[in-house]
Amino acid sequence: MSDVEEILYYLIEGLEKWELSKDKIPESLQKGHRLFSRALMEQGSPPPADIVALLKILQKPPKEWGLPDAATLLSDKPLVIPYVGISAAARDFKLIYESPEEAHVKEVLAILQYCRNNTPQLDEQYRKIRMFLIKHPVVTLSEFLPFSLSLGEGELFKSVQNCYQNITLEASRYRKCPRCGWTLDYRNHQWRCGIEDICGQVESREQYLQDWNSKEPLFRLRFGIYRYTLLPGLVEVRARDNLVQSGYKVVMFPDVDRFDLEVEMGRYSIYFDMKDFSNPFSLAKFFNEQTVYQLQKYSQDEVYVVIPEYRRQRYPNYVFTVKRLLRTHANHIRIIDERDILRMLKEQEDW
Ligand SMILES: [Zn+2]
Repeated sequence: MSDVEEILYYLIEGLEKWELSKDKIPESLQKGHRLFSRALMEQGSPPPADIVALLKILQKPPKEWGLPDAATLLSDKPLVIPYVGISAAARDFKLIYESPEEAHVKEVLAILQYCRNNTPQLDEQYRKIRMFLIKHPVVTLSEFLPFSLSLGEGELFKSVQNCYQNITLEASRYRKCPRCGWTLDYRNHQWRCGIEDICGQVESREQYLQDWNSKEPLFRLRFGIYRYTLLPGLVEVRARDNLVQSGYKVVMFPDVDRFDLEVEMGRYSIYFDMKDFSNPFSLAKFFNEQTVYQLQKYSQDEVYVVIPEYRRQRYPNYVFTVKRLLRTHANHIRIIDERDILRMLKEQEDW
C-alpha cells in the first residue's frame, strides 16, 4: 500500500461517513486531511487550510492536486463531484482497495467469508442471501425478519442486517426506483438512482413515482451494496433468465461465489463473472493489481468476464480498452460484452 493509496482511502471513507451524518467531521476524514496536507507540503505545495479548501481541491482532476500517482489511482477523475458527492471512480478505488480479489463491499465480503469458511461450505445459504439482496433493495421489518430467521445462523442474521440501513424517519424524501427498486433521491433538480443514475439511463421514468407509504420500519440496502451487489445482480439475473429461456442449465454463484454464473454444457461447464466498474481503467487496475496466483481462476479456458450492457453504452470500446490496458500477467483474461454471451455459447457448442 502506497502513501497516496492510504490518503485516498481515508478521504473516501471519511467522505462516505460524512454523507451519512453531517453532524461532525468524521475521524477518518480528518486523518485523510492531515495525511493529504503533509504529502503536499513534502512536495513543496501549500496544504488546504480546512475541509472546505480540501473539498475544493478534491473537485479538481487529480493531475492538478500536486500528488504524484493520484491521477493513475483515480483514473484521472475528480474525487468529489459538485451536487453529486463522491465520484464513481473514487468508490471503485475504495472497493478494489478493500477487497482486492472479490470486489465485494465489506458487508457482503463478511457473508462470503463466513459461508466459505464453514465446514461444509454454506453454498445454499449464500445463494439465498445474494438473491434476497437483489430482490429486496428496500424492505419492511416484517419482510426482513422471516427471511433472516430462516437462515438459521446467528452470525449470518447479523451480517445480513448490516447490509441495510434504517430509513424509517426520512422515507418521505425518497421515491421507489421503477427499475431496481432502490431509493431515488432528488438532487440537482431531478430524481436520481445513486450517483451515476444508471437506472435513469437504462429505463425512462414516468412522471408519477411511487413511494413506500409504510407504517412499518423501513430499511434500504447500504449504498455500496446497492452499487456493487444489486446493480450487477440485476444483470446476473437477467443473463440467467435469458440462458434458461434458451434451454441452458444455469447455477448462480456456484461453489459459494467462485463465479457469478455456471452454465452446464454436458461434459463441462462455462463460467461467467460480471464485473461492473464505472470505467475500463478501474477494471484494468483491478486485474493488474492481482498476483498471478490470484488471477488463476481466470486462466481456465471456460471462464469469461462479462461487462454489463449499460457500461458498453457509455464506453462503446470498454472491452477493447480494458484488454489494451492489461499487463502481461493478466492479459489472458477473456472479457466479453453482456450481449455476446449467447453467441459465445453457440460457438462453443459448434466447436
Ligand atoms: Zn435504480
